[in-house]
Amino acid sequence: MQTSTRSDLLLKRSLAAVWHPCTQMKQHETLPLVPIARGSGCWLYDFDGRRYLDAISSWWVNLFGHGNPRINAALTAQLGELEHVLLAGFTHEPVVLLSERLSLLTGGALGHCFYGSDGASATEIALKMSFHYWRNTGRPRKTRFVSLAGSYHGETLGALSVTDVALFKDTYAPLLRASTQVPSPDWRLAENGESPREFAGRCAQALEQHLEQHHLETAALIVEPLVQAAIGMAMHDAEYLRRARVLCERYEVHLIADEIMTGFGRTGTFFACEQAGITPDFLCLSKGITGGYLPLSAVLTRDAIYRAFYDEAVTRGFLHSHSYTGNALACRAALATLDIFEHDAVIEANKAKAAALNDAARELAQHPKTRNFRNTGMIWAFEIETGDAGFARRFFERALARELLLRPIGNTVYFMPPYVINGDEIALLTQRTLEIVAQA
Ligand SMILES: *Cc1c(COP(=O)(O)O)cnc(C)c1O
Repeated sequence: MQTSTRSDLLLKRSLAAVWHPCTQMKQHETLPLVPIARGSGCWLYDFDGRRYLDAISSWWVNLFGHGNPRINAALTAQLGELEHVLLAGFTHEPVVLLSERLSLLTGGALGHCFYGSDGASATEIALKMSFHYWRNTGRPRKTRFVSLAGSYHGETLGALSVTDVALFKDTYAPLLRASTQVPSPDWRLAENGESPREFAGRCAQALEQHLEQHHLETAALIVEPLVQAAIGMAMHDAEYLRRARVLCERYEVHLIADEIMTGFGRTGTFFACEQAGITPDFLCLSKGITGGYLPLSAVLTRDAIYRAFYDEAVTRGFLHSHSYTGNALACRAALATLDIFEHDAVIEANKAKAAALNDAARELAQHPKTRNFRNTGMIWAFEIETGDAGFARRFFERALARELLLRPIGNTVYFMPPYVINGDEIALLTQRTLEIVAQA
């Protein structure tokens, strides 16, 4: 009684005072907010003892569970030393260590690390750096950007201008710079009998045609390697990335890899680009970077790009900044996250976990109501054939009633669990999802 009063009050006050993201607030007249009191591992708990398996890693950020003891300990220790200091003219150990380690993870190819606060700001930084590089090197006409159909790169005005999700973009169209979208290699769009790789090759030809005509005014191509998540976990063959890398080289166009979601092991390798054997000119990271603890993003780039900014003239430098750049606590959380990757050989361990989930999901994958069951690394998705416009909400509510946090995108249901999910939790996730699908 006591706790549910506390919870009811919290919901009322939240709706009055908090403007929630990605939400038409009026829908909460009939859809209750979910109050969360605490988290542990894959589980979130409310005030009344109900629990929810966080099968979407709290919007794709959590890697090693809620309340992770190792990240907690690292943050507690950092709190005793330094919470934050401005990064212009100053430096500190966590930001240096993190920059060195991220660079090493690219094999040293991307040796310069610039920090932002979130994914959208990483996109902004990469776009600005690319344009500024061409300007500094005498190619000021290169001002245009290319992205894939259905791409998502964040929702600030610059990031939204290369995003191609109508729901988020159309309202703000009058405020946005035009950009070009080339066909997405999403294999669901392949023709009958065409393999994902062949389809990727065909899409790369469309990219080639565009670059052939427009390379002189094109600064960069930005892609989400292997998985375009926000449009509904669209997956493509690594061949597209290999071809894009070659084309960008040939036409002198930067390749920006937006690994904000795909980075940190999500697609089965530490970075998705590894599966194509390519190195981008800019690598955008966020989401899992702090294990889901604190907002932080990074843009890594190579030495030749860095050197084009290195000059006596102040305005040839990259003057972009934000107040919390390289925040010490966030960098420490990121270092603790990297320690876990190393210590627990996570990339290797996830292979067994992914195989176990694929096994457990066999019936789901073959169920007559599911389509396009697919998996890349620690991401699973399938479509449900439905004419119900309210499908996502209804599925979300049914999942909550079965202790699952699932948040379909349109009629695409996906799993993106924390890497600490265990066998029992995998069984619970797949069985209960199957129940919901069978009933739907
Ligand atoms: C989430 C996401 C972003 C934006 O990150 P925010 O932190 O939400 O601004 C950009 N690109 C991709 C691929 C993403 O998944």
